[in-house]
Amino acid sequence: RAKADGRDGFRAFAADMDTSARAITVLESDLRRALVRNEFELHYQPQVDLATGRIVGAEALIRWRRENGDLVSPGEFLPRAEENGLIVPINEWVLREACSQAASWPKLGLPPIRIAVNLSGVQFRKVDVRQVVLDALEASELDPTRLELELTETILLQDTGTVVGQLKALQERGVTFSIDDFGTGYSSLAYVKNFPVDRLKIDRSFVDNLKNDANDAAIVRAIINLGHSLDLEVIAEGVETAAQVAHLRAEGCDEVQGFYFGRPMRAPDLVELVRRETLLVRTA
Ligand code: C2E
Ligand code: MG
Ligand code: MG
Ligand code: MG
Repeated sequence: RAKADGRDGFRAFAADMDTSARAITVLESDLRRALVRNEFELHYQPQVDLATGRIVGAEALIRWRRENGDLVSPGEFLPRAEENGLIVPINEWVLREACSQAASWPKLGLPPIRIAVNLSGVQFRKVDVRQVVLDALEASELDPTRLELELTETILLQDTGTVVGQLKALQERGVTFSIDDFGTGYSSLAYVKNFPVDRLKIDRSFVDNLKNDANDAAIVRAIINLGHSLDLEVIAEGVETAAQVAHLRAEGCDEVQGFYFGRPMRAPDLVELVRRETLLVRTA
């Protein structure tokens, strides 16, 4: 019996190995094909100014629309794309697409809101990010001051000299930078000092429990004060409730982003949302 179990167990294990190995190869070639077939799409999540209540920006978030119609979230394919380097062409596509979308908005009568794009540390190791961004700006004719690049700790932990040089060159053209998931890293204070940062994005893990966790509330207050002392703007991500909005406003947070104001949405929906808001303000 034990022996039989063992054999069956092994067979099941071997079959699993086989499936997962195959799944990995398929996923990799799928990703390649997805690029060629243009199966990626960007969804845009509004960023709201707490002082005016108006949409002042949008973060571009990638999704993968598979042939069967399934929408795959970035957490499910970006880690693999970072492993196999496909993140480089994928994020180049993201930059070009986001910039040309944003460049079209004023032509549709919208105010010139900001567009935020996430970068990956792998890009900095493999290509000249400065050139990639400049190319996307040039191709789209987007005003560089409307582009914000979101950096994470994995980027800021790398060979500081190269990264800082590339970011500074972009900053000179008017591009702005935010530190994403701020507060979750190891040496956040050093980043703020060494990199040309314009905005801190409070990680949503601190926003989640704002009402019940005194430590989270203290951390949020500390990040806002730190940011303002250094002349940086502060935005909170993952804002889902009116209570969180009220708390963040009372603490002096500049901007908010989260399901409370809008889920990531297709470009036409964002355009519609901003347009309605603009009309309301004009007729008020
Ligand atoms: P992130 O940059 O921190 O983006 C915020 C994530 O939180 C998004 O998940 C967004 O949909 C989600 N979110 C927004 N508001 C709320 C809320 O109120 N509640 C909750 N529970 N979640 C909220 P998403 O779209 O799945 O993206 C996950 C991560 O994937 C992003 O985290 C970012 O690190 C990465 N990512 C997305 N698009 C790109 C891209 O084009 N390039 C790169 N390199 N990374 C990307
Ligand atoms: Mg982000
Ligand atoms: Mg974030
Ligand atoms: Mg986060």
